[in-house]
Amino acid sequence: MNGIYSIQKFSSLDFPGRLCAILWFSGCNMRCPYCYNKDVVFGKKQIEEDEVIDFLKTRTGLLDGVTFTGGCPTLYPNLINFSKKIKDMGFEIKLDTNGINFEILKEMKDKNLVDYIALDFKAPPEKFEQITKNRHYEKFESTLEMLINSNIEFEVRTTVHTDLLDENDINKIITILKNKGYKGTYYLQNFFETDKETIGNIGPQKRKLDLSLLDNSIPLEFRNF
Ligand code: SF4
Repeated sequence: MNGIYSIQKFSSLDFPGRLCAILWFSGCNMRCPYCYNKDVVFGKKQIEEDEVIDFLKTRTGLLDGVTFTGGCPTLYPNLINFSKKIKDMGFEIKLDTNGINFEILKEMKDKNLVDYIALDFKAPPEKFEQITKNRHYEKFESTLEMLINSNIEFEVRTTVHTDLLDENDINKIITILKNKGYKGTYYLQNFFETDKETIGNIGPQKRKLDLSLLDNSIPLEFRNF
């Protein structure tokens, strides 16, 4: 069953402006070739909610929030109730998501259970299924539109491996973001080279993205380039 897989007890980097703990949730509805979290994506529940709550009781006043990541936290069957417990303790919640589970994300938003969302824009529509092995681009698109039209603090980001995405693909994503009225910064994250085996057994990039070819008519920031 999808569940809490592991906990990182402290991060000052993951949740913008806040000190946080990070919870990793097992399972995912995508299979991105560059994903190096195979153990989490194919893993099972390792930690009970009560253990997390007991830990957070010791961090009241010391941490500002909790990041939910994975894997795909929206697959966790008790996400709504669990989030409410954490919010009731006074912590803010950041959610990392690929945006496919629109209904759960909408419920999280409508019930004020999420304070910050990091939304992965995996690929332009014509490459979405090829890269994610998930055919529901339209669900991601609904999530993107919902967030643009909400007051939730959020960011859009793309992981770049140039065997999969090139400058033209990134410029297509930028055009979509502009046309939909996205006002924030678009973060490009260079593929992180690691010894860990990736889902698609993809190797190192043969070249880096040429940043000078990107449409910079919206704010861009680059991570790990
Ligand atoms: S990188 Fe892709 S496969 Fe890996 S956890 Fe994120 S969405 Fe799932």
